[in-house]
Amino acid sequence: MKTLHTDVAIIGTGTAGMNAYRAAKAAGKRALVIESGVYGTTCARVGCMPSKLLIAAGEAAHAIGEAPGFGVYVDGPTRIEGKEVMHRVRTERDRFVGFILDAVESYPEEDKLRGFARFVSDTVLEVDDHTRVEAKAVVIATGSAPVIIDKFKAAGDRLIVNDDVFDWQDLPRRVVVFGPGVIGIELGQALSRLGVEVRVFGLGSLLSGLTDPPVRDSALKIFQSEFYLDTDAKVHDIRRVGDEVEVTFEDLEGQTRTERFDYLLAATGRKPNVGGLGLENTSAKLDERGVPEFDRTTMQIGKTPIFIAGDANNTVPLLHEASDEGRIAGQNAANFPKVEPGLRRAPIAVVFCDPQVMVVGAGYSKLEEGSFVTGEVDFGDQGRSRVMRKNRGLLHVYADKRTGRFLGAEMIGPTAEHMAHLLAWSLQQNLTVAQMLDMPFYHPVVEEGLRTALRGAQAALDAARPADAAQAAA
Ligand SMILES: Cc1cc2nc3c(=O)[nH]c(=O)nc-3n(C[C@H](O)[C@H](O)[C@H](O)COP(=O)(O)OP(=O)(O)OC[C@H]3O[C@@H](n4cnc5c(N)ncnc54)[C@H](O)[C@@H]3O)c2cc1C
Repeated sequence: MKTLHTDVAIIGTGTAGMNAYRAAKAAGKRALVIESGVYGTTCARVGCMPSKLLIAAGEAAHAIGEAPGFGVYVDGPTRIEGKEVMHRVRTERDRFVGFILDAVESYPEEDKLRGFARFVSDTVLEVDDHTRVEAKAVVIATGSAPVIIDKFKAAGDRLIVNDDVFDWQDLPRRVVVFGPGVIGIELGQALSRLGVEVRVFGLGSLLSGLTDPPVRDSALKIFQSEFYLDTDAKVHDIRRVGDEVEVTFEDLEGQTRTERFDYLLAATGRKPNVGGLGLENTSAKLDERGVPEFDRTTMQIGKTPIFIAGDANNTVPLLHEASDEGRIAGQNAANFPKVEPGLRRAPIAVVFCDPQVMVVGAGYSKLEEGSFVTGEVDFGDQGRSRVMRKNRGLLHVYADKRTGRFLGAEMIGPTAEHMAHLLAWSLQQNLTVAQMLDMPFYHPVVEEGLRTALRGAQAALDAARPADAAQAAA
């Protein structure tokens, strides 16, 4: 076994790992990235980018179906060529992956090592059985993997995860999706729009990361008007029959049905890749899921020379967070033991279903009951949304009763990805609802709907204040 010495060893060459590498090098230190899988990142290969490519194809098909609503007709039935759809998904995906591969290619050879890294101690790693790495600090950036529930295994080779979808040569006929979270809803709706018969099953009413009941109910109704979705599904049996997977379940009317599908897509969450890392050989304190306890401003694990970034730390599994965390971890690992807090931005999450879903701030479920007011807009009658025939959905904005400060929002509705940015920027700047209402709103735009919601929140704040003042006086 050969031994390598470095300042910063980075386990994983995904988005977090690559950002950690750049930061460590920028700090003038030696850095080594260790990769056990393929280069190219989860985002580009099997995550953000290919999923959005499939969604874009679904939207194109859907737009044709919507055109008659404007008096525009495309004669004859819509034809979807599955092979062409998947060819575009794969080739555009490969193009995105190509840019990442170019970046990794540009790293000096001595900065790259292939193999599975395992801790021997806080600063010593063994990579497969060929290399021992001695580092001054280590960044864990190992990402996450889909959770596979035991009962899905009965589907045998018909059981798939998101990775498999993007390698399809053609579209299947029927797919059962388990997990209406972000990934399940995005892929389930896109496949449904591309003519695949889809059933989506969930548990505990969870839906697309929404926690505000009326917003979640609005989302449920919208999705159910388009494809089969049961967020409290009773599934009795899953088995592989011939070339298919057979699922026995109770439908929304309470009838027991048995149906066959080409694939069972497991989208029931992801777990951090920390198993097998040998963390028990380090001084890291682990939580009940085996994830090290760390400081989210410095990414440091306890007082150790180990840092953890991206999906691996099981906190906010989103691309921009993985980039930020990787950069902070890389900088602090390079400067260890001098460790400083890095910039953490206002929470923002977008689901690219249609209508889109967004959550800004910690989310409704994390707000303290009685401490906030809610402003609302239903997009049913919102002017611009109606013009575009996109008038579906609900936005709730939350504001602190005492200070009037904007706290966050949950929404399903048109252009939610843009609305989310306006709101996250406002949140990060600590704006009050009154200050947000002082900003310009053009006409006619979907943001006028946001203004309606903000006005509602302001009215609720004004109404709450005299009561608070009276309470304080008493
Ligand atoms: C279908 C899907 C859609 C998504 N859509 C979005 C979206 O629209 N917007 C968004 O913000 N986020 C999205 N995400 C999430 C986003 O892709 C992830 O948050 C991000 O890619 C995580 O980056 P990472 O660097 O933590 O992990 P990764 O990119 O997975 O990198 C981890 C690397 O570590 C390697 N590794 C693991 N263990 C070891 C070891 N012991 N030794 C050596 N190497 C190891 C792995 O091989 C891998 O290359 C999506 C994810 C999925 C799956």
